[in-house]
Amino acid sequence: MKSFEANIKKVVPYTPGEQPQNKVIKLNTNENPYPPSKEVEKVLHNFDVDVLRLYPDPTIKELVDTIADYHGVDPEQVFAGVGSDEVLALSFLTFFHGKKPILFPKVTYSFYKVWADLYDIPYKCTELDENFVIEKEDFYEDNGGIIIPNPNAPTSLYMELSEIEDILKHNQDVVVIIDEAYIDYAKESALKLLDRYENLLVIRTFSKSRSMAGMRIGYGIGSKVLIKHLNNTKHSFNSYTLNAVSIQCGKASIEDDAYFKEMIARVIETREQVKMELKSLGFTVLDSSTNFLFVKHKEANAKKLFEALKAKDIYVRHWMDEPVSDYLRISIGTNEEMEKLIKFMKEYLN
Ligand SMILES: *Cc1c(COP(=O)(O)O)cnc(C)c1O
Repeated sequence: MKSFEANIKKVVPYTPGEQPQNKVIKLNTNENPYPPSKEVEKVLHNFDVDVLRLYPDPTIKELVDTIADYHGVDPEQVFAGVGSDEVLALSFLTFFHGKKPILFPKVTYSFYKVWADLYDIPYKCTELDENFVIEKEDFYEDNGGIIIPNPNAPTSLYMELSEIEDILKHNQDVVVIIDEAYIDYAKESALKLLDRYENLLVIRTFSKSRSMAGMRIGYGIGSKVLIKHLNNTKHSFNSYTLNAVSIQCGKASIEDDAYFKEMIARVIETREQVKMELKSLGFTVLDSSTNFLFVKHKEANAKKLFEALKAKDIYVRHWMDEPVSDYLRISIGTNEEMEKLIKFMKEYLN
């Protein structure tokens, strides 16, 4: 170590899924296989490049108003950011400022741990049961805040709203964040609980169900007091987060609700089909409420299967960490892509 490194902050960064730049069957980072709305395409076609001379609107008003209107909340309850990752990072910095450990599930989005370490936030991971189910009782102990994805990743499992509400009831003195990256593929959103819990923040993304991972848009919805604090942190860090193009494209996506719903239905239909086929090939498939499947084969080794798939340009996700090393996470692609996956599996398992 060089002497000047003594005063340098050292962190273990998050490892994002691979983003191969060549044409592959890409089922490794839960992107949407279908394009964004045609309305988004129109915005890009007609975009007045002169607008780029100016800084974008620091309040992101156009997009915030559209999101507020869509969800039936006040614009002062909405915070938009560069992907939900930015909204989450700023939320950790803002809301998890106490001395007690924050709580999140042991098997979950691995970025939570990274942000906690980055900001020196103490944390404790709750155990899941043997079926990867999050147990609400684990969140009854004294803590400095809570973050849970619903549905959870990479397990794909949905937690009933009554359980989330139970956790909120037991935790009225800390901020509780529900990361709803995949909620559009699931049953009910925690947005329903906003009226009753001022300490609840619900976070959403345009990266999965809205087919706009490359645009980087995410948002949080909560009480006015939470959003005010979040905005104060943002404006202490970078006032111009979302760029002018993203703001307009985000708005266009929200306004085309018919297309959005159609694409969600299509992904769910493919998911159910693929789930059946994988089960018939000897896979255990968790009951997904997302746009991916978390699967384990009764005989085939997960890491070897992952590598064999990759050698055929089919990218899925595998982690060496316990207790998920026997599993693969497979995003739902087009029907054609999933047929190729199934065909490969049949040959491989033979
Ligand atoms: C994909 C994902 C995110 C990050 O989404 P971006 O909006 O692309 O930053 C956050 N949380 C979970 C659980 C995710 O799966």
